Amino acid sequence: MSCEPTETPTPQEIDIPALREKYRRERDKRLHPEGSDQYVEAAETFADYAEVDPHSPPVVRDPISEEIDVAIVGGGFSGIMAGARLEENGVGSFRIIESGGDFGGVWYWNRYPGIQCDNESYCYIPLLEELDYIPRAKFSDGAEIREHCQRIGKHFGLYEAALFGTRVSSLSWDESIRRWRVGTNHGDDIRARFVIMCVGSTNRPKLPGIPGIQSFEGHSFHSARWDYEYTGGDASGGLHKLCDKRVAVIGTGASAIQVVPYLGRDAEHVYVFQRTPSSVDRRGNVPTDPEWVKTLGPGWQKERQRNFHQWSFEPSPPGAAETDAICDFWTEINRNLAAKLEAMGWPELPPEQYFAMREEEDYRVMERLRRRVESIVGDSKTAEALKPYYRMGCKRPCSNDEFLETFNRPNVTLVDVSTWQGVERITENGVVASGVEYEVDCIIYASGFEVTTRLDRRLGIEPYEGRDGLSLYEYWADGLKTFHGMTAHGFPNHFYTGFTQAGAGGNITAMYDQQVTHIAWIIKEALARGAVVVEPSQQAQDGWGRTIRETAIDNTEFLLECTPGYWNGEGGGSGPDRRKKLRFIFGEPYGPGFYAFEQLLQDWRDQGDLEGLVLEAEGP
Ligand code: NDP
Repeated sequence: MSCEPTETPTPQEIDIPALREKYRRERDKRLHPEGSDQYVEAAETFADYAEVDPHSPPVVRDPISEEIDVAIVGGGFSGIMAGARLEENGVGSFRIIESGGDFGGVWYWNRYPGIQCDNESYCYIPLLEELDYIPRAKFSDGAEIREHCQRIGKHFGLYEAALFGTRVSSLSWDESIRRWRVGTNHGDDIRARFVIMCVGSTNRPKLPGIPGIQSFEGHSFHSARWDYEYTGGDASGGLHKLCDKRVAVIGTGASAIQVVPYLGRDAEHVYVFQRTPSSVDRRGNVPTDPEWVKTLGPGWQKERQRNFHQWSFEPSPPGAAETDAICDFWTEINRNLAAKLEAMGWPELPPEQYFAMREEEDYRVMERLRRRVESIVGDSKTAEALKPYYRMGCKRPCSNDEFLETFNRPNVTLVDVSTWQGVERITENGVVASGVEYEVDCIIYASGFEVTTRLDRRLGIEPYEGRDGLSLYEYWADGLKTFHGMTAHGFPNHFYTGFTQAGAGGNITAMYDQQVTHIAWIIKEALARGAVVVEPSQQAQDGWGRTIRETAIDNTEFLLECTPGYWNGEGGGSGPDRRKKLRFIFGEPYGPGFYAFEQLLQDWRDQGDLEGLVLEAEGP
């Protein structure tokens, strides 16, 4: 089935210069002077999320003292894929150290009503072919994803390696034994030859530093620690205990979009405090078609992931011959652009012209989404407040078939708090916005995760030091320094995963797989070659830094124009050093692209000499 371009307002219907100005005004009023520092650590408020696990009983056990080959820090998708790839490479002596009571990471913690993945499950859920599993629908719910994490754990025998309910509290390279000493909240002394950091980017819930946040005398919790004891029901709804409760929701990001319809249905009254509206398209979730499944041949998932990457992410015109297999809101702009270029006979365009055309498609799609709001939400003031005024790549796009509709309910009120302060104050009785106090019984913080705050704060690992007590936090304080984004000089046998100086793409699990596949291969080779230390040379690292800088696609102007959010480091704040504080959600990626990086890694492995890494054998 071919995927058609969407119908969007014509270029004549939209006034791009006027909209550009409007986008700027909307951005300016939301630029928080403190940027990422506006958020406070949960532990400083009313809940120590690092310590509380609502889903599993506390783990009580004696401290462990052991020597292993590899310690994997984190048991979310990246951690379990690292375990899987180590198993495949015959590296059997490893531990997966995970703070939750099971595998899953953010999918273990996040169980709010309505939880689903916004990325297509056939691309997002990893190792589908290896495990012979096909998701039940285009967008999987949280339970199915968690089940799949468990399936991976069982399939690769990872449960025997797991230390659940365990938080890594310190990491230090011990030169005398040439191993990492891994300390935990259970007093363990794990001496690991290698460490793989698989900590993800949504590992820590964050809270806005709203004055008075501790003074509220009702009930409050974060969307990533849903309290079903209080609300009743489960992830599929039925929050019956809220029938006589007034509930405030703070935030309207991807989590809130999914939660609000459930609250609207069950709570006595819901106040949704919105600083910046999300773009919300139709969901279009459909059960998996068994006939389509029959057509899938070997390699289908990687092929589909590649298709998703190209149509949603890579800023180059898709080839005319390839079709958009994903066909949803992630790929719409490129699809519409491709149709236009096709009609023009795919001319060779200078980049400025190409990007100008892409920008026009972006404006048209966003206008379509604003009109969508108008067509659904009855009250015109509410509808106006729900319209997103920024470019598509500024914030994570959302889709939901009930979110906007929920504002037509008499028991649901949108409270527009669209200045940088957002919510003004929390009192013992409720939430204050624009001088009005909204008395509530419960406040739910759908305020996201510590994605852009300082690394030490996000990890909570202290000390975290390589050779000669060199702190990783200090080493990276003024910018990443890595070899291939995964290793760093001064940090032997240490591997880092995530958005660093590696390949970046819209499908995070594909990125993790690319990285852990490479890391597992290096560890296997190092062990096979009798090495006890593997570390990039200074020269190799400097060379990689140059490659990253020379190939970088400078998107500073785009990020500056964006409304603030975690995708651009909260806009960098509103101070004179804004530019410096801007952060691109994807780190400092390899410019030629995700699949070019994959090829680079493959060629490096094929070359076989581990160029750039220095290996040391067991000492005399
Ligand atoms: P987000 O960071 O996307 O949203 C946080 C919300 O809190 C924003 O709307 C933000 O407003 C608001 N906020 C923060 N401070 C204040 C304040 N002082 N006053 C009022 N509002 C405030 O978090 P989410 O949990 O929604 O999503 C995080 C990410 O996690 C997603 O983008 C996605 O990557 C992942 N995720 C994916 C899911 C999926 O696939 N369905 C589900 C859940 C999470 P503002 O925008 O103005 O800063």
